[in-house]
Amino acid sequence: MERVDALNAALPVVGMVGGGQLARMTAQAAVALGQTLRVLAASPGDPAARVTPDVVLGDPDDAAALRELATGCSAVTFDHEGVPQEVLVPLAEAGVPLRPPPSALVHAQDKLVMRRRLSDMGLPVPAFAEVASAEDVAAFGEEHGWPVVLKATRGGYDGRGVWFLRAADPALVSDLLAAGTPLLVESAVPMTRELAASVARSPYGQAAAWPVVETLQVDGQCARVTSPAPGLDPDHAARIQELALRIAAELGVVGLMTVELFETAPGEVVVNELAMRPHNSGHWTIEGSVTSQFEQHLRAVLDYPLGSTAPVAPVAVMANVLGAAQEPAMGMDERLHHCFARFPEAKVHLYAKDGRPARKIGHVTVLGRDEADVRARAELAAGWLATATWADGWSAHTGDPRSPHSPEGPR
Ligand code: ADP
Repeated sequence: MERVDALNAALPVVGMVGGGQLARMTAQAAVALGQTLRVLAASPGDPAARVTPDVVLGDPDDAAALRELATGCSAVTFDHEGVPQEVLVPLAEAGVPLRPPPSALVHAQDKLVMRRRLSDMGLPVPAFAEVASAEDVAAFGEEHGWPVVLKATRGGYDGRGVWFLRAADPALVSDLLAAGTPLLVESAVPMTRELAASVARSPYGQAAAWPVVETLQVDGQCARVTSPAPGLDPDHAARIQELALRIAAELGVVGLMTVELFETAPGEVVVNELAMRPHNSGHWTIEGSVTSQFEQHLRAVLDYPLGSTAPVAPVAVMANVLGAAQEPAMGMDERLHHCFARFPEAKVHLYAKDGRPARKIGHVTVLGRDEADVRARAELAAGWLATATWADGWSAHTGDPRSPHSPEGPR
């Protein structure tokens, strides 16, 4: 027992701010590396707090809780962007090993800072402007054309904090500004689809990129991911990977970074946003790549050599299990029995979250050769787990009749 304790003491401890499903899956990867992930969770019932014995309870903007999390950690990292810079910067100055550093993370926290930096780097971003008044939005729409997209520069996620405006809406803008929501406005990008490029970077400067994936959003949140992005020309894919690696290097990212992109024409992309943590678009890597994004994130923040990002199958599809509009009468245990019986190849991950409508409560990954077949199986399995009905299409998953491709757009 003493020798085991000595061995464990010799292995590093990583602290993660946030107790959601990303921390939960990172904790699973930590176990394989002989580590225990320490999490800062808001409640003992959080998905990650349920699976690691090393939990600090507290809020992500509480400097004392963050210092407690950091004590004895080789690296402190994040499962969300919710720690304000005013809290992060003093911690970094006091020597807390924040990975990524606040100077990089700010580009995932503040969409205006990110848009300015990427456009200064000469990278393709939508036309955008800061919003200080309702007139700013009207003037932007007159200059660049309607519709426009109004965004909270900070604090939004899964489409919360994004508003599509077909015409000036001074009341909405004024209300948001009055409530203290910092805003930007940008052009609505006509796109063929959404893509995502995930990379990892270590303090040493080693970097690795996974295949570029296609993401499908429903109501502004990720519903399905296909790897590799179907039909994406290999040269275009390589250029997108280089773009992501360049952003990671120039911003000084440490750990995982995902670049969310809009494809506007074959091979043409504009950057939507950055995430500096494991990302929903990379869940397929758990089964679909030699190294999962969660293991890679740990390796990167600890400055271990990075793992191979090679895919292990020609196609991987990940479909999210979203809380249904109405909780099915059949319980999850029984739903799992039927799911496994019909799709023995499906890999199911459940996050121990209650199934509020449209909430991400789990995901399913299927690997294979034929993209249409793999996609159909992943969607059927995820839709079944969500709603206890075997039905095609995304409306079946949420009970929401709107389609992501409806003329009304994604929301
Ligand atoms: P969040 O930070 O909440 O994920 P995003 O900025 O990623 O918000 O926007 C959510 C979704 O809204 C995107 O995935 C995309 O489908 C849509 N969207 C966002 N910005 C634009 C835009 N400029 N043009 C068209 N669609 C957009």
